[in-house]
Formats: sequence, structure tokens, C-alpha cells
Amino acid sequence: MESPGSPASTERTGRWRWLWVLPRLAFILFVGGVGLLLWISDRADGEERRATLISDILWLEQNLRFHLMRNEEVLGRIDLTHTADAKAFESFSRTAFGFESGLRQLIWLGADGTVRQAHPITMDPNLVGDAGEAVPSRQSFRLARSLGKPVYGKAYPYFTNDWQFEVHVPVSRQGSVVGVVVGVYRIRDLLGDSVPWWLAERYRISVIGDSGKVLGTRSKVESMVTEEGYQVAFDPPGWGLALHAVPYHAPKPLASALLSASLVILALIVLWSLWILRRHVLRRQAVEEELQREHAFRKAMEDSLDTGMRARSLDGEIIYVNPAFCRMIGWSAAELIGRRPPMPYWADDYLDETRAMHDRVLAGEGPEEGFELRFKHRNGNLLDVLIHEAPLIDARGQQSGWMGSMVDITERKQAEERTRQQQDRLQSTARLVAMGEMASSIAHELNQPLAAISSYCTGAANLLRDQKPATDVLPALDKAVEQARRAGQVIRRIYSLARPGENRFERVRLAEHVDAALALMDGDIRQKGIRISLELSRQVMIDGDPVLLEQALFNLLRNAIESMRDTAPDQRQLTIALNCAEGYASLTIADRGCGIDAGVAGQLFDPLFTTKAEGMGMGLAICRSVVENHRGRLSFEANPEGGTVFHILLPLTPK
Ligand code: ADP
Repeated sequence: MESPGSPASTERTGRWRWLWVLPRLAFILFVGGVGLLLWISDRADGEERRATLISDILWLEQNLRFHLMRNEEVLGRIDLTHTADAKAFESFSRTAFGFESGLRQLIWLGADGTVRQAHPITMDPNLVGDAGEAVPSRQSFRLARSLGKPVYGKAYPYFTNDWQFEVHVPVSRQGSVVGVVVGVYRIRDLLGDSVPWWLAERYRISVIGDSGKVLGTRSKVESMVTEEGYQVAFDPPGWGLALHAVPYHAPKPLASALLSASLVILALIVLWSLWILRRHVLRRQAVEEELQREHAFRKAMEDSLDTGMRARSLDGEIIYVNPAFCRMIGWSAAELIGRRPPMPYWADDYLDETRAMHDRVLAGEGPEEGFELRFKHRNGNLLDVLIHEAPLIDARGQQSGWMGSMVDITERKQAEERTRQQQDRLQSTARLVAMGEMASSIAHELNQPLAAISSYCTGAANLLRDQKPATDVLPALDKAVEQARRAGQVIRRIYSLARPGENRFERVRLAEHVDAALALMDGDIRQKGIRISLELSRQVMIDGDPVLLEQALFNLLRNAIESMRDTAPDQRQLTIALNCAEGYASLTIADRGCGIDAGVAGQLFDPLFTTKAEGMGMGLAICRSVVENHRGRLSFEANPEGGTVFHILLPLTPK
């Protein structure tokens, strides 16, 4: 598993960057292509518009030419009777104007060039009045008369805004020119009359003079940019006039506009989806890296574990094992995953037990505190494992199987076994030692009952000799019998103590045995006038051998009483306390006796150590054997009030 900062991951990030270039490139190409397409289409539209413009203006020019020529023809056909008086001329003029001819005035000039008729009369300041002074008109007149064909004059201004031009059409009769009909065109009106409406809807049509000045316009709007326009020569009337057409900006066709708009929208959608996709991929990438990091961390943790982990599906199939588990049993993960019971690592001799536990776990009844099983390593070695099973919960919170953790406790078990065996050996050695001690102390232990039996029997014999009634003798004999039974019990228990594997442990209420031991010493206590103070907790129960415990108590009490032999009678007090503390029963026996010299304290428990002339030195040794046999402790200390305090600690529950 690589870490996010590892070279492999950097390389992957690099590859990702490369992958990102593709959609960006594709997007740029797409937008570029769309733009180019729109531009080409726009250009094609423009060229088509321009071609249409050229053909339209050529058509218009031709149309105007025809128009002017038709007017020339009409004017040339003037009947001379129409020139006779003003009324006739007006009638002719009205007919001529009626064709939407663009003509605004007609003038009849005689062969000498004088104005004979004019309609309307007052329109042309150049012609009315001194007709001979109108220079352009004069030239045109002469030219028309000499050529015998229509001649157009140069455009001239009419008031401030308008421009006009004239056509001089000679009228001949029998080979000689009899006059000239002058038609005056006002350029604006000519355009208004002669340019068809459909053309006027599409273009602004102007007539431009030789100096570039606009002489007349037919336009829907006041001013326009003229770069796109096209112009052709306007001849006739000539004199450098030109027709100029500028197309209006017609709205783009709906389909084309829709296409452009949809392409733009499409590009925006592509851009947006790319952005969303990128965001999504980046988020995924971050999550993936986080997952990888987490996975790496967990894997490292799993690999470093000493605890074997094994996951099983609900029907018992192995779905996961960690390296520690594989090491433990010597099978690889590939060999184990997918296996169903019986597993190859189940120990042959424990198959039934293992299967039973397997079934219990799958049924959800496995012990919560864990359980021990014996497995078999691939190499045949057996191993003890401590297993804890827990439900395996999936991402939806449902149980998908069982996860078991396994600790190899083979060594611990072996160590425990070794310790147990050693303890057994020690115990048996101790018992042997104790037996030796016992053997040498039997005399000591039996001394008391035997002495009692002897004195009871002597007493009984004396009574019989004195021929006392049997009722007097019987109590002494009963006591002798009781002492003999006690001596027998002591021997049996001491014997059993020396035999390994046998103990007579039972629930023992300690206070009762303190009472029993005191009862045995009752005679001495009364004889020596010893006060007994008892602070016994009567509930204290332990597991123990009642006879041995009683024997130990008896020895301690006897020592305590004997130690007070030289104590002043009013000071003779024996305090016995029993209670529980921290899992132990604690018993103290405090006397006000002679106390123990520091010099002998170290050997007190040694067998055969005694300071008494008639002592055996076995009492305390036996006490310690008994207490230790109950896994307890025996100790002593000086009593602050004088004398000695012996402590016995005995565990409340067996281990
Ligand atoms: P014995 O009583 O036969 O001497 P024990 O083993 O019972 O043997 O005692 C060993 C010695 O310990 C005694 O001789 C005595 O000196 C000393 N001892 C035991 N208990 C007490 C006691 N309560 N006070 C003073 N000395 C004691």
C-alpha cells in the first residue's frame, strides 16, 4: 500500500492532470469549432447579403435608367399643340407627372431657348425670369438642340436640402428642332417615386454627387454607418452621380439566431457539466486518498498485531484472516479464505469440541468472556488459543458474520502447567517435610490426649478400686474415650496432610473452631484465672480442614496461655479477634505473656525450637504448615501492652 505522498501516488496525480487536459482541450476545440462555424455562417450570410445588395442596386440602377428613358420618350413625344398655351401645357405636364415619373416641373423652351411655357411656373429660380442667364440649362439646351437627342444637366441645389437635375429633350418636326422640353427631376422625389417599396425596406438608397456629397436619400432612418454600402454610377443623368445603397441591419433569421443561441447554451452546459464533473472527481479523489490512507493505517496496524484476526460469514465461511492468524497456524490467507468447516487447523483430537464451539458461536451463543480451544499448526504442532468472538457489522448496520480475535496462549498454558507441576512437587516435598515434622511431632500432639487419657483412666481405676458406683466412673471413662478419639483424628489428619492430592477442605465457620479450641483449654484457663476477651465476627467462612485448623488454633492458644505463667494474675488476659479484610480472614491472638526475645524470633518457627524445659518445639512449626497449607500467612509481633500478638491470615475463597 502506498502512502499519498509516495512516488506512485504523485505519478498517479500527474496522470490525472493529463487526463484533465483532454476534456479541457475538447471543450476549447468545441467552443472554437462552434465559434468558427458561427463566424463562417455569418460571413457566408454577409457575402450573400452583399451579393444581393450588388444585384439589387444594379437592378435599381437599370430600373431608374429605364424610368428616365421612358420619361425622355414621353417628353419627346410632346404634341406642339400642348405648347400653344399654358393650359394645354399644364395638361401635358399633369399627364407626364402622372406616371410617378419623379418629374417636378416641365418647361417648354422655344427653338431660340426662351421659356415659352412652364408648369408649375414658379418652381425653378434658375429658369424663371431671365431664362438666358441659367448657365447649366443653357449649355444642356444647346447641346440637346445641336445633338437632337436628350441631354441631362448637372445637379444643382434647390433651396437648402434638395438637389435637382434637368433633362433637355429636343422636339423635332420635319427634320428641324422646334423646341426643347425640359424635365426637372428632384432627386429625393425621383427616388421616392421610382424605388420600389421592397427595395426601400431593405436599403437606404442615396444619390451621391461627384464630390461625395449626398444629393438625395430615401431612408427609413436618419443616419447610418455606411461601410457596408455599395455604389454604382448613375448614368444618365451622369455628371459623376452615383447610386449608393446601404442595407439596413435586418434581424438575423430566427433559425440562425436559435442555432447560435442553442450552441452557446450547449457550450455553457458542457462547461458547467465539466466543472461539476471535475468537482465530483476531485472530491472522489480526495475521498479515495483518505480511504487509502485509512486503509494503509489499518493494514499497518493489523500487520503489526500479534493477535490473530479471523472473520467468518454467517454460515461459517472464512472471509478474512490477518497475517498474525496465518503465522499462528501456518496456512496462508489464500488457502484459508473461502474454507468451510472442518477447518484445516482444527486439531484432530478435539474435532468434536471445536465443531461444537463453532456451532455455538454461529448460533450467537458463544461465551462472551471468550473461550479456549486447541488448534493444530500446519507442521503438526498443537497450540492453545484464547478466542473472543464478536458480531461483524456491515456498513448498513446489519450483522454479516463473526469476527474472532485469537491469542496464542500455548506458552502461557505450558508455563502454567510447569508451575502447577512444580507446585505439586513442592507441595509433596513440603508434605514430606511436614510428614517428617509430623512424625517427630506426633508424640507432641498426642502427648496432650494421652496424658489426659492416662489421668482419666487412673482416676477411673482409683474410683473402681474404692468401689465407687459406675455412675461416678463413667464420666472419666467417657472423657478418656473422647480424648482417645481426638488422638485418632489427629493422627489421621496428620497422615492425610502428608498424602498428596488429598485434602478434606470444606466450608468452615472459623469462629466455631476458635470456640472449640478454647473449650479444649477450658480447664487450664479456669485454673490460671485468665480473662478471655472475644471479638469474633461469626460470619467469616473459609475453605479449610476443620481439624487441622482447630489443631493450629489449639497450639497458638496453648502457647499464649503458657506464656502467661509468670504474669500477674490480674494481668492475665487473652484477646482473640476475628474479622475480614481484603479477601482474607484475619485472626489475632494477643496475650500478656513473657513476650518473645528478639534473639530467638528468627528461629521460632523452626521445628524442635523451644525455650521450655518440657517443650517439643513443634507447635508453631505445625501451625505454619497448616496455615500455609491453606495458602495463608502466620506472623507475630510484640503486643504494645506487653506479651505477643500472633496473626493468621487465611484467604476467604480458594483460588
Ligand atoms: P513448644 O511450645 O513446645 O516450645 P512451640 O513451637 O509451640 O514449641 O513454641 C516454640 C517457642 O516459641 C516456645 O518455646 C516459646 O519460647 C515461644 N513461644 C511460642 N508462643 C509464645 C508466646 N505466645 N509467647 C511467648 N513465647 C512463645
